[in-house]
Amino acid sequence: MATATARVFNFAAGPAVLPLPVLEEAQRDLVSMPGVGMSILEMSHRGKFFEGVLQQTEADIRRLAGVPDDYKVLFLPGGASLQFSMVPLNFLPRDKAADYIVTGAWSQKAVKEAKKVGGVKIAYTGEAANFSQAPAQGDLKLDPNAAYVSFTSNETIHGVEFKYVPATGNVPLVCDTSSDMFSRPLDVPKHALIYAGAQKNIGPSGVVVVIVKDEWLKKRVDDPKLPTMLNYAIHAENTSMYNTPPCFAIYIMGLVMKWLLSIGGLPGIHAINERKAARLYAEIDRTGYYKGHAQKDCRSLMNVTFRLPSEELEAKFAKEAKAVGFDGLKGHRSVGGMRASIYNAFPEEGVDALVNFMREFESKNG
Ligand code: PMP
Repeated sequence: MATATARVFNFAAGPAVLPLPVLEEAQRDLVSMPGVGMSILEMSHRGKFFEGVLQQTEADIRRLAGVPDDYKVLFLPGGASLQFSMVPLNFLPRDKAADYIVTGAWSQKAVKEAKKVGGVKIAYTGEAANFSQAPAQGDLKLDPNAAYVSFTSNETIHGVEFKYVPATGNVPLVCDTSSDMFSRPLDVPKHALIYAGAQKNIGPSGVVVVIVKDEWLKKRVDDPKLPTMLNYAIHAENTSMYNTPPCFAIYIMGLVMKWLLSIGGLPGIHAINERKAARLYAEIDRTGYYKGHAQKDCRSLMNVTFRLPSEELEAKFAKEAKAVGFDGLKGHRSVGGMRASIYNAFPEEGVDALVNFMREFESKNG
């Protein structure tokens, strides 16, 4: 088994690499939490210690992302996929429609679930160009009477990232930020609801962070048949403790938040992320041997998708990369090629090592 001193470069799309200091602290305290004498895995979620973990994690998220006081921060189970259903179940009146901006596979999935609940209008789709682009504001066909507008700030599979927050007037904006949450400054007040599965940038799998505006929560569809666990208001009233929350995942996320604050918060990590992505894209563009999937103006800082001249070369690249300790580089089958996921915790040396490898591979196979 790999140890802390012999870790591969993990380019996986999620669950993904976590900061080493976080893993080391969790490992050190796993068997017995100082001052408590038992593992975080064994404690009651109603006990003082876990209550403190939950409150501190929320406070750190508020500080990190500048979450205003009139927003709730919730920790929910069910993955980001459950949010595809919870959002329309709570906020799509059955006689109205919501606008969905479709920039890849994850926004398509959100549409599929919303259609089971109510009306959906596609405000934009990048499908014709195999989801290689994000729309400009002027490309969006927004309905001023929509229940809300939903978009995906970063499409994990296609590597397409919004560089702006769509303006939606008075229509509430919902964002799936699962793969770029806390990778750059986040303009919370422009949104009514933001959600992210933790397992890419902010923690392990098992927990979803939801940031929702109180005012919108009050306007929720009042459906008495809505199952309790799918009701945001119940989770908000019970400070994410209606049932047993994903305690361990929240604890690790809390450590990740502390790590992010210690390296300069969101502006600090954004600068690092820009540097890492710029190095990789510069290599992709250097000779034309590699081809980026996403258009240049919407290239993801998190998921760098690229092709090689042939599928045979792609298979060879993936195999040789794996042999030198680069894990998880093979792209999703719908895009093909490679995907280097370089989330917050992915080390800069790993990017340099991949760039050197790409250069060498090209010179041997060009
Ligand atoms: N949205 C995006 C942008 C994602 O990348 C993913 C997972 N890769 C999901 C939603 C679904 O997340 P989960 O597996 O936590 O349901």
